[in-house]
Amino acid sequence: MSKGDGDLRDGLSAKEIFANSEGLTYNDFLLLPGYIDFTAEEVDLGSPLTKKIILKAPLVSTPMDTVTEADMAIAMALCGGIGIIHHNCTAEYQANEVHKVKKYKHGFIRDPVCMGPTNTVADVIEAKKTNGFTGYPITENGKLGGRLIGIVTSRDIDFREGDPQLSLKEVMTPIDEMITAQSGVTLQDANYILEKSKKGKLPIINGAGELVALIARTDLKKARSYPNASKDSNKQLLVGAAIGTRETDRERLKLLVSNGVDVIVLDSSQGNSIYQIEMVKFIKKTYPEIQVIGGNVVTRMQAKNLIEAGVDALRVGMGSGSICITQEVMACGCPQATAVYQVASYARQFNVPVIADGGIQSVGHIVKSLALGASTVMMGSLLAGTSEAPGEYFFSDGVRLKKYRGMGSLEAMENKEGKGSAMSRYFHKESDKHRVAQGVSGSIVDKGSVLRFLPYLQAGMQHSCQDLGARSVTILREMSYSGDLRFMKRTYSAQLEGNVHGLFSYEKRLF
Ligand code: GDP
Ligand code: 5GP
Repeated sequence: MSKGDGDLRDGLSAKEIFANSEGLTYNDFLLLPGYIDFTAEEVDLGSPLTKKIILKAPLVSTPMDTVTEADMAIAMALCGGIGIIHHNCTAEYQANEVHKVKKYKHGFIRDPVCMGPTNTVADVIEAKKTNGFTGYPITENGKLGGRLIGIVTSRDIDFREGDPQLSLKEVMTPIDEMITAQSGVTLQDANYILEKSKKGKLPIINGAGELVALIARTDLKKARSYPNASKDSNKQLLVGAAIGTRETDRERLKLLVSNGVDVIVLDSSQGNSIYQIEMVKFIKKTYPEIQVIGGNVVTRMQAKNLIEAGVDALRVGMGSGSICITQEVMACGCPQATAVYQVASYARQFNVPVIADGGIQSVGHIVKSLALGASTVMMGSLLAGTSEAPGEYFFSDGVRLKKYRGMGSLEAMENKEGKGSAMSRYFHKESDKHRVAQGVSGSIVDKGSVLRFLPYLQAGMQHSCQDLGARSVTILREMSYSGDLRFMKRTYSAQLEGNVHGLFSYEKRLF
């Protein structure tokens, strides 16, 4: 901006709009448009989740038991975000969900399910029911590490269903008719071999002919359609998991780490506690490679303690979630826009990214939170009700619904669904006699697959950034701190004006 143009800057800078102690929410303000000299597709949505993990899309699914288990985490990571597996379950259950994400679409499937020559067609049909796939390498001893002698795929058993007791030795494709690759082969070369050979599976063997891994053609195709997937150096999808701060959570943590978790979220509605500070220090010392997200916080003072303890990111929000009654019951919390701005502008001095958690109802809210300095957003209600969210659909008055409930709702704390372990987020002791609910339990309309919904969110964010004149999320944040991004408060009637009005009826289809 050249000298003299200052007068032309309408609205207020972020600093000015948050200058007094009035608490603002996302709906209380708008962002003023900027100058466009690029297309929406060019807008780069890459943004840090933690000090070390950069996501291609700043989208995180919340650790709630009606939002994130393996299916959601896989979809989030495929689309460039990340899912955090909830902990309202036993440590084993949670670790297994993490394991499923890490195992999904491996470049190499490092623990392929194997069969032996004496297994039968019936065994394959049965295994398909639980595993969902029909391609099984056949090794001498029926295990990974045994000498590879053949492979059975759907084509080998397609016409054999009438003869279930037939042994696999008789139907398998034997090793001398198979294409294999030697261990040590790069993923790229292995992919090339698979492409050229036109086979569905590529077993990887060592010098002694023993099976060490498997590559599936379907994974190659999936890798192509999700070029922005969030992956580690081994090409496995990134995944996070939430834990509490009790002594028993250290055991849970150990199990999660051994299953390959990339990031741990310390799940607390008020994170500024001695328990969390000690847990952060413990994790950083014991597992220095694991990224730790602390929270929740809504003030700079809270953030300071956790930053000093060594967190790699902060989760911001208290009482802004859609299922939340904390502000009403506990008299404690902070309007979300103010919380995000205050904590983010403080934490950036220490290079600690901030996750805006809760209260996100639309693409506009996502962009506003990023404009306030958040690096990523964490969503619950926006993702609940999708086919990847845990739970079954049910009908009420002809509408297809799924359950969505606060983790501090009595229902979640009682947790009668058999996944074990009641929530610790809202209690310190399981013996607490009088529970005080901080959330409600409800339902949410069927939204279809997250794999369709997330691309809509991303395209929406790109168009919004384009209107604001920001070529990337990073630039958007810089514009906010430099004062080039202009904010404007909305009166109540301005909010009414900004919504659909004056129609007898209408249909609101978003994508
Ligand atoms: P199949 O032809 O019926 O075996 O199935 P596909 O190859 O089309 O799909 C198998 C999917 O399951 C791929 O995405 C694999 O990565 C995944 N998968 C995970 N673990 C295993 C495993 O142990 N064996 C096989 N065959 N696939 C696995
Ligand atoms: P949403 O995206 O639905 O608006 O908010 C989700 C966020 O609400 C979660 O990420 C979590 O921080 C918070 N949350 C989840 N359950 C509860 C609850 O029972 N009470 C409160 N106060 N917050 C909750």
